[in-house]
Amino acid sequence: MAEEKREFQAEVAKLLDLVVHSLYSNKEIFLRELVSNASDACDKLRYCAQTQADLTGGDGEYRIRITINKDAGTLTIADNGIGMNKEDLINNLGTIAKSGTAEFMSRLTGDAKKDTSLIGQFGVGFYSAFMVADQVAVTTRKAGESQGWRWVSDGKGEFTITEDESAQRGACLTLSLREEAHEYLDAFRLKSIIKRYSDHIAIPVILVDGETEETVNSASALWTRSKSDITAEQYTEFYHHVAHAFDQPWLTIHYKAEGAIEYTGLLYVPGSKPFDLFQPERKNHLKLYVKRVFITDQADDLLPPYLRFLRGVVDSQDLPLNISREMLQHNPILAKIKTGLVKRVLSELKKKAEADAEGYAGFWENFGAVLKEGIYEDFERKTDIVALSRFKTTHGDGWATLDDVVGRMKDGQEAIYYATGDSVAALRKSPQLEGFLAKGIEVVLLTDAIDEFWVPAVGEWNGKKLIAVTDGAADLSAVKADPEAEAAKPEATEAASLDTLIAALKLNLGDKIKDVRASDRLTSSAVCLVTDSGQMSLHLEKLLKAHNQ
Ligand code: ADP
Ligand code: MG
Repeated sequence: MAEEKREFQAEVAKLLDLVVHSLYSNKEIFLRELVSNASDACDKLRYCAQTQADLTGGDGEYRIRITINKDAGTLTIADNGIGMNKEDLINNLGTIAKSGTAEFMSRLTGDAKKDTSLIGQFGVGFYSAFMVADQVAVTTRKAGESQGWRWVSDGKGEFTITEDESAQRGACLTLSLREEAHEYLDAFRLKSIIKRYSDHIAIPVILVDGETEETVNSASALWTRSKSDITAEQYTEFYHHVAHAFDQPWLTIHYKAEGAIEYTGLLYVPGSKPFDLFQPERKNHLKLYVKRVFITDQADDLLPPYLRFLRGVVDSQDLPLNISREMLQHNPILAKIKTGLVKRVLSELKKKAEADAEGYAGFWENFGAVLKEGIYEDFERKTDIVALSRFKTTHGDGWATLDDVVGRMKDGQEAIYYATGDSVAALRKSPQLEGFLAKGIEVVLLTDAIDEFWVPAVGEWNGKKLIAVTDGAADLSAVKADPEAEAAKPEATEAASLDTLIAALKLNLGDKIKDVRASDRLTSSAVCLVTDSGQMSLHLEKLLKAHNQ
């Protein structure tokens, strides 16, 4: 039969070279990656079979079989999932399509040591097989198709594809283990690896060693178990699996909602910032299951965009099993689940904020800018989200709540003042702040683009108006000056000479300005720009210009 030879995409070749030559000590994770893929493949078929029952050909008992062949020095990982056709093989195993690996590649430094440690953080999926094998063969047949295929590569830049009549539905990977990787032919060693990394996999992982066969994992979906039966490591491993992430989750939320709507949520807030947080699609990353059957990871209505940093699964008891992705749009049950999830997540965040201010500050630095979108977008929750928000202000270097700022207001101060700009450091130096600092008035420093939207929309906090320092209406006259700051202030300018100066400025600047006014908001700078009350802020104007609006 004709053998077709192909080259790996250049990035894959580079990645493979790194994988093979890395001194990476934790090679055992190859098994986690391959079992994870096998489990994903079974989930995919189970979903498709909901609407196309004949796809399973009567075999809907999903399982993963890992077979040891000591004589041949091979390890086989076989699943009866969705499988791949020729096109899939070329696209999935010859190029880097998945975002995680692309991100991994973009972080490569060329420094072998640093790059090696990156593998541990990201995981490189299928390609990790080449850490332990000098040849990988994939025999596979896609569900619903009759033609089988065999893909073979030594990971050195090329792979071959041939037709294969013997291929069963699903995928069967045969790893020809390197001499130094023969420890992975040891059943005891394999069992402990599977237990450690793959216990949460929802279908049986069966280890076959000669005559003996044994199901090694618990084979019950992790989220269906009770909290007390799940260890911290198991929660973390499951996070790595569902999120395709390798950091430690900062927060794990696992609960069962009972009542009008029944569902289980196992949600994680990552410990570090995913790279795609600010992509324009603002997609959520939760996996939706119905009665433990995977449905989709693209249920847009499951979570509002401002919680898109969450990872994890939601398993509904109420949705019909054969629900299609289209039917999920504007689905009333989904809408109720969403309301429940939002409520739960915000209340868990509140608890964390109260119990662990420092940890919460880390969370805020990673995801605050995203969460704040909710103030603008979620009318019902905006007060809760403002209360969860943290701000840099002119009072010290730490984070403050708006309540803190209100608590520190000066006698006679009527409003909460804020300044918007590109960075806290630049804002601290802004002449716009001088008059406020002179009177000891705390100013909230806002640097996220979203601040330009939610602040005007909210308008006030605790009965105190939010007013920009650049707003002409910012009136400081009722606030007594700080004696210290006052002493440093230069002699008062004579009113007469000030009038002459204002007239000269107006004449000179003409149409470029609307008005020139004497103000008590400056101490050492001579002039600053302000806007009319209610007008677009200067920072927003700059932002919009930058985006050609
Ligand atoms: P990821 O799992 O993050 O998508 P991998 O490198 O692990 O990335 O796998 C790449 C792709 O190859 C998968 O997305 C999937 O489409 C395909 N694939 C891998 N293993 C299997 C398998 N056992 N059955 C079917 N498809 C698979
Ligand atoms: Mg994978």
